[in-house]
Amino acid sequence: MKVCILTLFPELFAPFWDHGIIRRAVQGKKLDPLTVNIRDHAKGRHRVTDDRPYGGGCGMVMKPDPLTAALSAARAQVPGATTLLLSPQGRPFDQALARSLAERDALIFVCGRYEGVDERFIDRYVDAEISIGDFVLTGGELGAMVIVDAVARLIPGVLGNQDSAESDTFSDGLVEYAHYTRPPVFDDQRVPDVLLSGNHHAIDRWRAENALIRTLLKRPDLLEQRHLSAEEREILK
Ligand code: SAM
Repeated sequence: MKVCILTLFPELFAPFWDHGIIRRAVQGKKLDPLTVNIRDHAKGRHRVTDDRPYGGGCGMVMKPDPLTAALSAARAQVPGATTLLLSPQGRPFDQALARSLAERDALIFVCGRYEGVDERFIDRYVDAEISIGDFVLTGGELGAMVIVDAVARLIPGVLGNQDSAESDTFSDGLVEYAHYTRPPVFDDQRVPDVLLSGNHHAIDRWRAENALIRTLLKRPDLLEQRHLSAEEREILK
């Protein structure tokens, strides 16, 4: 997947591309990242990218012309890409949206700063606005990283078998079962016996029950959207 980030702070992304599973995805050519510095597409000696809002008020607004020039440079390099604007006003990002974005060949992320982006740029060039939560960040860069991270791990071949996304929280409308590793006793707390039993059928059953119970305790809202089988209802009782 080609991923292009339009930002005033491209240097923030260098360490992101260079660590962990994202680095592996880039090296394995599953993820092809590019950053475009919006300032490089601003005119004049001072390369101004923001200006005062019409109508007055505090803060600055990102000018539409450098953004448009930066976007056309990006589109020339990633033709056919969907253009997404990071915005607290956008569609809330979730695992379902991550799955759907993971099916695209190319994505362009526009990272806002200041009070946001001139509305005419959004109206004409943005396919969708996405929010990473009901809070306001100083810029879209962290949001873009959150989305790229969640999407990249769903691209086939990015995760090895070892760290499969299949049982992850939300993949089945439930939170994931509890994890334990060595030592078998820690601070007087024992790992559940079944996980040491070697009985894979019993382990699968314990994990399925544990995921269900944890969902009830931690995220009961997820169960409201789920059609519970008779067996699941019995477990929850
Ligand atoms: N004045 C804007 C408003 O009230 O909607 C907020 C602007 S915010 C300070 C600056 C930039 O940060 C936004 O243009 C957006 O790109 C990014 N941003 C802030 N909160 C975000 C969120 N929850 N999700 C995604 N991006 C966000």
